[in-house]
Amino acid sequence: MSTPDAHPVLACVRSVRAALVDVADLDPTFMPTRDKAAALLAIGEALAAANALQARLLASAHELALDAGTRDVAAWLASTAHADHGSLRRTMELGRRLEAAPIVSAAFAEGRIDAQKADIILRTLEELPEETPRSLRDQAEAELVRRAPDFSPKALARLARHLEAVVDPDGADAAEGRALLREERSAWDKTSLRITPRFDGTARINGVIPEEAAHRLRTYLEAYTQPRKLEGEVVRTDQRMGRAFCDLVERIDPAGLPRHGGDTTTVMITVPLDDLRAELGTAAIGGLDSEGRLSAAEARRLACTADIIPAVLGSRSQILDLGRTQRLFSPAQRKALRTRFTTCQVEGCDVPSTWCDAHHEDPWSSGGRTDLRNALLVCGHHHRRLHDSRYSSTRSVDQVIVRLRR
Ligand SMILES: [Zn+2]
Ligand SMILES: [Zn+2]
Repeated sequence: MSTPDAHPVLACVRSVRAALVDVADLDPTFMPTRDKAAALLAIGEALAAANALQARLLASAHELALDAGTRDVAAWLASTAHADHGSLRRTMELGRRLEAAPIVSAAFAEGRIDAQKADIILRTLEELPEETPRSLRDQAEAELVRRAPDFSPKALARLARHLEAVVDPDGADAAEGRALLREERSAWDKTSLRITPRFDGTARINGVIPEEAAHRLRTYLEAYTQPRKLEGEVVRTDQRMGRAFCDLVERIDPAGLPRHGGDTTTVMITVPLDDLRAELGTAAIGGLDSEGRLSAAEARRLACTADIIPAVLGSRSQILDLGRTQRLFSPAQRKALRTRFTTCQVEGCDVPSTWCDAHHEDPWSSGGRTDLRNALLVCGHHHRRLHDSRYSSTRSVDQVIVRLRR
């Protein structure tokens, strides 16, 4: 495909692509193991070298933006190739920053370090105090590039902070603290969260949060750890984390949240009585005409937990008071349950009782009583199962057995 007079860079990019296409049909399954290992290592280096070339090209093609009238060349490429502007812009900026660091640039171009490590080293150099002598700065650059291949990105960042303390002898003690402070501030600047509906009953959460908050979140989620295998379903780690996240959100006490328009933040579930009792009824999150819908089964489950208020509507859409004060087990009743049971009452489940819900065995919506004989203390996972018509449950004294219906 490459024409004889193509620039060597263009010819290279074309031939790399062509070489990859040549092996696209080959199945790597039966490659000798040693070759697989070598290929995997070499791919990392090849990808890094390709990324470096992309960064340098983006940084030196501003005329494309001028011709097309776009803000920058990343915007031109994003719209022309229908690609993500944000990541192209970061690559373009990386390319520009490389111009001030020839040793990093060369190592990146040869695939000895990847984009992430190049970014870490560049950031370290950029954040050195202004008065740092040139020779020290160059020494730091060479040292970091020399050691980068043997360090993980995380370890390299730690090494970089340490090196900064060496390069900046006047403030050696303060240097690491300063670097941490800068890192925390920039983590706060980078923090973002987006919740996008996927129109299939789920929403995508995308976000970047400071490591400290992430660590805390992970600890909370891991507290909800459930057996890996439940009722024949193998649960992946990411699934367990996602489900634990939902359980955590449901456990937030609205009374402890900031007031929202004068009212305590509450979520209202509106559901006609007939729907609430029907197997396939539907309920609304908010008023009846709101967009958010959920199944009556889910509404029944939420009605068991303390912090969501169900508004049950009678035939003329007036709100029925189904003994709302008696809907929930009292704190004393829940305490009594927790004293009696140390874990979820479902057979084989060892989620501690402190994270369990009190469930009405005979549903509150069909007149089940809120007394201890009608209460089951179950974890979030099993609470869902008990409200899921695909599962059946049988009770023997204090234990419940949950099975998939056949
Ligand atoms: Zn329940
Ligand atoms: Zn359980």
